[in-house]
Amino acid sequence: MSGQAISKIEKLCIDKNMRMTEQRRVIARVLSSAKDHPDVEEVYRRTAKIDQKISIATVYRTVRLFEEAGILERHDFRDGRARYELAESHHHDHLIDLETGNVIEFQSDEIERLQEKIAAELGFELVDHRLELYGSPKKG
Ligand SMILES: [Zn+2]
Repeated sequence: MSGQAISKIEKLCIDKNMRMTEQRRVIARVLSSAKDHPDVEEVYRRTAKIDQKISIATVYRTVRLFEEAGILERHDFRDGRARYELAESHHHDHLIDLETGNVIEFQSDEIERLQEKIAAELGFELVDHRLELYGSPKKG
C-alpha cells in the first residue's frame, strides 16, 4: 500500500464529487490495491488491518456506493457471495475453478469476435457482455 498517495478509486470518487471520509478512503485504498475479486467480508478483513474501527456495515455500504457510482463491478461466481473488482479494468472474462474457487482472468479475441458476430446476426450491436467459465482442473 502506497502510503498517503491517493488511490485510484479515491480519485474516481473525487471526480464524481463524492464526499470522502477517512473510512471511505481506507476502503477505497484496499479495493484499489486488490489484485483479486474480493467479497465484502474479505474487504472488511483487509480494512480491519488498517483501521479496526471500520465496521462491516460501513464496508457493505461503501462498496454498494462505489458500485452504484459505476466504480466497482459486481460479479456473481455462483458461490453465494458478491465479488468486486474495479469497473474500469481492462476487459476480460473469468474462469472459476470449482475445486478451489480460484478465479482466473482471461481474454480471447476469438470469443470477442464471435460474440459480435452472433449479436450482429441477431440484428444487434454488441454493447457489453459477461462470460464465466466453470471448470475443474484436468487430471493426468
Ligand atoms: Zn476480473
